[in-house]
This record gives sequence, structure tokens and C-alpha cells, in this order.
Amino acid sequence: MIESTQPRFPPVVEMRAAHRRRDASYDGVFFLGVHTTGVFCRPSCAARQALAKNIEYFRTAQEALIAGFRPCKRCRPLEVPGTHPEWALRLLARLEREPQRRLRDQDLRAMGIEPDRARRYFRQRFNMTFHSFARGFRLRGAFEQLRQGADLDEVAMTHGFESHSGFRDAFSRLVGTAPGQSRTSECVTVSWIESPVGPLVAGTTDRGVCLLEYSDRRMLETQLASVRQRLGPVLPGTHPLLDQLRGELADYFAGTRRQFTVPLEYPGTPFQVKVWNGLRQIPYGETRSYEKLAWSVGSPGAQRAVGHANGQNRIAIVIPCHRVVNKDGKLGGYGGGLWRKQLLLDLERKEQTALELAPRQVRAKG
Ligand SMILES: [Zn+2]
Repeated sequence: MIESTQPRFPPVVEMRAAHRRRDASYDGVFFLGVHTTGVFCRPSCAARQALAKNIEYFRTAQEALIAGFRPCKRCRPLEVPGTHPEWALRLLARLEREPQRRLRDQDLRAMGIEPDRARRYFRQRFNMTFHSFARGFRLRGAFEQLRQGADLDEVAMTHGFESHSGFRDAFSRLVGTAPGQSRTSECVTVSWIESPVGPLVAGTTDRGVCLLEYSDRRMLETQLASVRQRLGPVLPGTHPLLDQLRGELADYFAGTRRQFTVPLEYPGTPFQVKVWNGLRQIPYGETRSYEKLAWSVGSPGAQRAVGHANGQNRIAIVIPCHRVVNKDGKLGGYGGGLWRKQLLLDLERKEQTALELAPRQVRAKG
């Protein structure tokens, strides 16, 4: 994302110490696999602790699964979706409540939050520093006011920017345009959605959801750039359409929803839009070959171009590009990783329930 840093591991000594004291605030930040038992846990697991030499650390539950570890029956490391630790929820609520307020280290400490931990958590979970995350919130409020015609200087002051030029710089760096130019345009609100296949980055305009992408996908940066270019500045925040999407995804992963009703917005070339519309016609639980999809969108023989447009899909899962497979029935490609494609298809065929991601099965097929 903006000012993104690659998600980074805490140092091993820190993870070891967090695990030793069963620190739940590290849940979701890392997972640990125990070689002697073949089980992986969250840091707070109450089970007896293994020797340090037998422990391997993972950034995500998926990585632990892929490495062959089974989820622990006691701490259930796969059942994290949608949750942040209590302190992070408080912090997010505060950002939401007072977006104009600049939170400094001493403010965090006053809330009982260690600034280093907050920074690490935000890098890990949101792929951006806490500083730029918080600034994104402030800028979003500023952006809304500017759109409504508020005075530039006043907006800068009330949103915690000491100087006009500091505000201009921050604004244009994040938003991509100077503040004065943005009165007529609108912004794309982005948020994070936890799911059984890992965290997703979702974005929406007031007209429809325009982005849903796996947060660990390299393509994410490109997708964000394309959204920014076509639809407007990208700023973190909340939006009713994202709430709707979050709810529909939860139903989908629970196996109780076959169709999404949240409005979508997916501008593209006429060919891309034709392919994406074609994807939306593939029923839940079914698959199509690239050849057949090319044929159904009126471009027989254009399977390579169709495959390319498929890969450019910005709204994963909802525009079901995972339902396109090779002619021989093999999975073909998937930007989000083949294990995810397999999991989504299994879920739709009822061979898999979302709450019990069977790791060995995923591994054998993926
Ligand atoms: Zn455990």
C-alpha cells in the first residue's frame, strides 16, 4: 500500500519471549509450528510448550499449513477471522472516533499500548506503518471536507497538520493529487477483511465495490495503482458497502451464500469488461475452461487474451475467476495461489467446509 513495507517478522527473540509468556496480543502476528508434534499454534496457546529448537515460526497460518503442520485442537489457529486483539480494537475505534487527532507515542502509552507493538502489528496486519495508517484516516476526513467545499487552511489545521505545506505534501503523496484539485473527484475507501484464506484488501466507491485482493499478492500494488488511476485516491476507512461485502463473504465462507448482491464497479477495456461479465455468468460450484469462456464471450480462440483479462480481475472471489480451469480439468493458474483456488472450488462443491480447512487435503491437491 501507500508507504508500504513488506510485512516483517518480529525478531525471533521477541517471538520466543511472547510465546513463553503466552502473550495473546501477538496472536495473528505470527504462528509457530512444533516439529516434534507436527502441530501449529498461536502464540497464546495454553498447551505445554515445546523446546525452542523444535519450534519454527510462520507469518501466517497458511504458511504453516503449507509447511505441513496441522492446526492445534486447543488454540485453533485457523479460527482468527475478523478479530483483532482487544488493544488494537480500542486503537482502531479511537482512530475512527477522532480521525483528526494525531496520536503520538505518549498517547498510545496512555492507552496502555506499547508503541513498538502497535507499529509491528500494523505493518503485519495492514502492510503499512501505523503512522501512515493513522495519517490515512486523518486525510480521509480532510478529503471529505474539501469535497464539501471547506477552506484548505482550515481543513489542514483541524486535521492535525501544523502547516499548510505539510498537509499539501502528505495529501498529494497519499492521494496522488494536490488537495485543491480533488473537490470534484471522489475517493476509494479501502479496508481489510479477514477470511479463512487470509486477509483481503477491499475497496469501494459510493457506487460499488471495486477491489478485493489477497493482501499477500504481489499484484495488489498494481491493482491499487489501477484503482487509483481509474477511480480516484485510495484512503483507508469504513463504508457501508464494505460492511455489506464483509457480511456476504462471511456467508460465502460459511457455505450459506452462492451469490453476491453487493454492487460492483469494474472499469476496464471493453474486452476486459466482457470477460469479467462472462466470469460472473459461471454458476457457483461449476468451472469453465479458458476455451469455453472465450467462446461464451464471443471471442472463440482468444483463450490467451481471456486468460490475461482473467488475471487482471480486481475483485477476487466475487467475480469468480477461480472458476476458470484448464481444458484437461487441471487447476490452471491463480494469482492468489493454487491452494486458494482449490479451497474455493472445494468449498463451492461442498467438499470442504470453511471452518475446518483440512490441511493435508489442501496440500495434497495444491
Ligand atoms: Zn495450540
